[in-house]
Amino acid sequence: MPGIIQLLPESTANQIAAGEVVQRPASVVKELLENAVDAGASHIKLFIKNGGCTHIQVDDDGSGMNAFDARMCWERHATSKITKAADLYNLHTLGFRGEALASIASVSEVEMRTKSAEESVGTRIVIHAGVVETQENTAATHGTSIAVKNLFYNIPARKNFLKSITVETKHIFEEYQRIALAYPAIGFEFYNQDKNLSKLRGGSLKNRIADLFSIKEEELIDTREQTDIVGIHGFIGSPKLAKRTRGSQYLFANGRFIKDAYLNHAISSAYGRLLEEKTFPFFVLFLDVEPSKIDVNIHPTKHEVKFEDGRHVYTLLQSVIKKTLGMHYVMPTQAQLYNALTPNSEYNPSLKTTGPDVRFNPFDAPRQRTSTEWEKLDELLNTPIEQAQQRPIFSGVPNKIIETTEAATDLFQIDQAYIIAKINGELCVVNQHRAHAQVLYERYQDQQQIASQQLLFPRTIELSKADLALYLEMKEDINALGFDTSEFGNDAIIINGLPSELSKADGADIVLQIIEDFKITFHDLKITKQDALKQAAAKNAAIKAGKVLTALEMSNLLGELLQCEQYTTNKAGKPILIKLTKSSLERFFQ
Ligand code: ADP
Ligand code: MG
Repeated sequence: MPGIIQLLPESTANQIAAGEVVQRPASVVKELLENAVDAGASHIKLFIKNGGCTHIQVDDDGSGMNAFDARMCWERHATSKITKAADLYNLHTLGFRGEALASIASVSEVEMRTKSAEESVGTRIVIHAGVVETQENTAATHGTSIAVKNLFYNIPARKNFLKSITVETKHIFEEYQRIALAYPAIGFEFYNQDKNLSKLRGGSLKNRIADLFSIKEEELIDTREQTDIVGIHGFIGSPKLAKRTRGSQYLFANGRFIKDAYLNHAISSAYGRLLEEKTFPFFVLFLDVEPSKIDVNIHPTKHEVKFEDGRHVYTLLQSVIKKTLGMHYVMPTQAQLYNALTPNSEYNPSLKTTGPDVRFNPFDAPRQRTSTEWEKLDELLNTPIEQAQQRPIFSGVPNKIIETTEAATDLFQIDQAYIIAKINGELCVVNQHRAHAQVLYERYQDQQQIASQQLLFPRTIELSKADLALYLEMKEDINALGFDTSEFGNDAIIINGLPSELSKADGADIVLQIIEDFKITFHDLKITKQDALKQAAAKNAAIKAGKVLTALEMSNLLGELLQCEQYTTNKAGKPILIKLTKSSLERFFQ
């Protein structure tokens, strides 16, 4: 009897892979530009039409391919970049899975012309939905030109997911900018509907940034540092370049653009009071880490990496930016320099001056500087790392005991739901779930940037029309809490990332639950919608009754609770902490 298991046809396998590699026209642009860079091109031209949906073309003057390679490169797992598994860990080129071209070809109509320097004649190849239609010799100059037409024409369902032409064009331009920044020595041109949008000559990084963003070079501050673990170089912008959105923050790890809210925070926080509230600094910074110390393969199309030593990178980045800003505006003494460079340098109260002046901006008065301003800068340089950056309490990694818990002693847990403690000499009972919810709620109130962690396998959830409308209204606020969510098709949302303190398993359920709880409270006119959302998120992210806590976890939880503005009752008026005072104890025994 024949079995029921069959091998997927190659074309189907490629289409499935394409779902990962090719999410939208910008992903095609990224892959083609990266291939051109890897091919050693010195000048690259990008042409798009209709947001890349009907036409994407990349022309390069790189190595080109001979007739054999021109055919081979469209096969899955065809790559010239790795020959053995060990190479994966030691990779300096951009591509490495040999999947991009095969995936792209399976969901579009492709035409390539290519010629290597050694060949006298070039190759033209046409592929429709993964099937080779034509392969022939052709006259060509050396290099490669690949045109991708009618993306997703054979997969209508995917095509429907494409956003407006404006949105897709914007995504493409962002990819173009990132690659142009990563390779300033290469010349780039960008044409949209045959109109030139950008022409960049090869040069220094500083020229490139200035050209690309039309920024004056004197607004850019050279930044450089090298330690055993990581090298940092690039430019940070003067506070004048800060914007209200995070859009102008470019961080690269080993040449690859990355999104890392945690590291971006390290940089922004180093500016301290040089920035107006709720503005974000401009920067283009490159981190160089030994390839084996960084995992770029977490998700090939997502801009995320995992550092072996993320905390070190955070502290170092923060110190380097502080030092750079400090040196740029005043020359600190050797001792202060050392201080700025010492990770986690202790806050020195003797350096504290009178209250901070938020209007202080050294860029406005570059020449004469009074001693008080100097002291304020000094204070900036010595501001300790904020509490929000300490590890969250239930990440599963034991962290150092928060000092203020000295006030809470003799802890133990009852019914896996309450913590009994002596707080300032008094017997207290704490509801562990409400305590944690309060801690999270106040953290959300502070509006500090909350670190988010990308999911390896993004999850989608379906919503009713009404819930979706509600979601859309609150999307920005939800994402500000560390979620990375967006709409997905007509009636679903996709969860790409979660607050890093949440356990991954229950992530999607939490988002649903937050929406549910939010529905119940948001009609309440006494609280704002944002507040209702924060309460719902805190409630659902908090540990529940039934969770066994270690002594360290209890101690940390109480430590954080006691630092809350309000820690005896929550917003809804429910008790979090009950004190059994001496008199109440006496009453029991009367
Ligand atoms: P990867 O980049 O991961 O190796 P791709 O599918 O993107 O996989 O490309 C497959 C191979 O095709 C590359 O390894 C390279 O040898 C060749 N190739 C692709 N694009 C170009 C190009 N523009 N110029 C020269 N060779 C190219
Ligand atoms: Mg590639």
